[in-house]
Amino acid sequence: ADNYPQPLLVDTNALVARSLARAGVDRMFGVVGIPVTGLANRAVAHGIRFIAFHNEQSAGYAASAYGYLTGRPGILLTVSGPGCVHGLAGLSNALANAWPMVLISGSSDQRDVGRGDFQELDQIAAVKPFSKFSVKATNIAQIPSCVFQVLDHAGSGRPGGCYLDLPSDVLHQTMTEAEAEKLLIDAEKERKQEGVKIVSNSEIEKAVSLLRNAERPLIVFGKGAAIARAEHSLKKLVETTGIPFLPTPMGKGLLPDTHELAATAARSLAIGKCDVALVVGARLNWLLHFGDPPKWSKDVNFILVDICEEEIELRKPCLGLVGDAKEVVEMINKEIKEDPFCLGKSHPWVEAISKKSKENVLKMEAQLAKDVVPFNFLTPMRIIRDAIVGMGSPAPIVVSEGANTMDVGRAVLVQTEPRARLDAGTWGTMGVGLGYCIAAAVASPDRLVVAVEGDSGFGFSAMEVECFHFAIFPTGLNLVTWFGNICCNANSRLHTTSFTDGRLIPSSCKQLIAISPNFFKHSVNQVDLIPLRRIIQWTPSTQHFKQHHSKRVHIRLFYQLRSIIFCGGFG
Ligand code: ADP
Repeated sequence: ADNYPQPLLVDTNALVARSLARAGVDRMFGVVGIPVTGLANRAVAHGIRFIAFHNEQSAGYAASAYGYLTGRPGILLTVSGPGCVHGLAGLSNALANAWPMVLISGSSDQRDVGRGDFQELDQIAAVKPFSKFSVKATNIAQIPSCVFQVLDHAGSGRPGGCYLDLPSDVLHQTMTEAEAEKLLIDAEKERKQEGVKIVSNSEIEKAVSLLRNAERPLIVFGKGAAIARAEHSLKKLVETTGIPFLPTPMGKGLLPDTHELAATAARSLAIGKCDVALVVGARLNWLLHFGDPPKWSKDVNFILVDICEEEIELRKPCLGLVGDAKEVVEMINKEIKEDPFCLGKSHPWVEAISKKSKENVLKMEAQLAKDVVPFNFLTPMRIIRDAIVGMGSPAPIVVSEGANTMDVGRAVLVQTEPRARLDAGTWGTMGVGLGYCIAAAVASPDRLVVAVEGDSGFGFSAMEVECFHFAIFPTGLNLVTWFGNICCNANSRLHTTSFTDGRLIPSSCKQLIAISPNFFKHSVNQVDLIPLRRIIQWTPSTQHFKQHHSKRVHIRLFYQLRSIIFCGGFG
């Protein structure tokens, strides 16, 4: 028999990789090890870039954010047992934020279940609360179909995290090349997206009539509108009707914060007094005070646009429009075009919002203009804001996390472009920063990424700066951090100290640029190129820097560095 040519064999690792590549997957985040190293190698051979992390948690955050930024599921690959459990952080983050993501984990040999196998865990049960859809492939023949199913469920309908379980015995199975190809072709034919109900013309007419007859209408939009890429349709709607708008934190930038109809700086007035609110791709959850009084008027009529019918059933709005945000807003625009209306600048509601916004902006500017030493939150935030604004287009992707750092950042940092702000999100997840930076840099290699982080938030995943360096910027990462030494809680002080005395500084980090009150005191003119060893020698002290710091130094940094991480010393 040895004289006859053997048919070419394909194993499960190769078939998973090939199925992913066929579906257009070109990036994968994760941590390799037994039993998925072969899978990662095969994926790389199929042109999929593998971005290796220190920990599955950050890799999962990256995969979820990559899904949000690109609109295509981000993939996280983990080993079995603990690897899968670490991956749950990212999976749950994707589910909570309604972002498309797929977790693929190896799992222990099916034949040894119940015998205490290496890393044995019922992973399908473990992922259940955190996944939209999950499936275990129990045989190589199921692979193409399972891969396409998880991708299609993750990316269609309301996006979310899905899970694919690959037992190690299945990973070793093989089939012939011809069988594999046939399975792939058959499974491709079976692919289907989750169905979405098509909104009716009469519902659109009703929505337009509600908006037209409102005295104080408001348009609210969020992450769902961002993922639908509804920015142009929303701009048209806002500008033809003259209705003020309010973005949610990550909806910021779909229309520029600087737009004259932006109600961001008059948020309390806008939501407290509006009588009709068109809410596009944003849940009436805690971020929007559940749509309840006293934040909202008790008489407000909500028109909700959401791809998820259950979401509309849950909120019981005056009118629910199920569908893709972009398509529904375009239908509304078309209906308005038949009989246009525009509030105009002198409309009492528009005037009230505009007046309140201006007042609040002026108040904030007065605070920002003060150079407070030692730093409060506002002074460094203003410096960062001015530098970002000065960069023009494309605007950097801003990653913002921390407690006060994020809150102040949301108010001060200006967003002018869609999907350019990533923060702790619906789940209020801390530690997402580095993963999000990496996802942003991978999704948009030509854009600058600026992370403005509290040092506590940063500390959660600080080690991933190394991944950032190796995977994203082989020319060297420049890390800018400042240690304010004010308001430090025990947690952040710990992070700060371990970071500054060198224990946490990755070997690959070529230079660490510290902007700290103490540091300024000693070397105010050398701030931009401080060798790492200098930082290691630096010992935090309780003294505060007493002099006015140089604004120019900070701004120059923005132009010199490929990517910047600002890390406040205040949690
Ligand atoms: P935010 O945090 O910005 O308020 P949420 O995450 O709470 O936003 O809400 C986003 C909503 O958008 C979810 O209810 C989700 O079902 C919905 N959504 C997701 N994709 C789309 C889409 N393409 N069109 C319309 N709605 C969408």
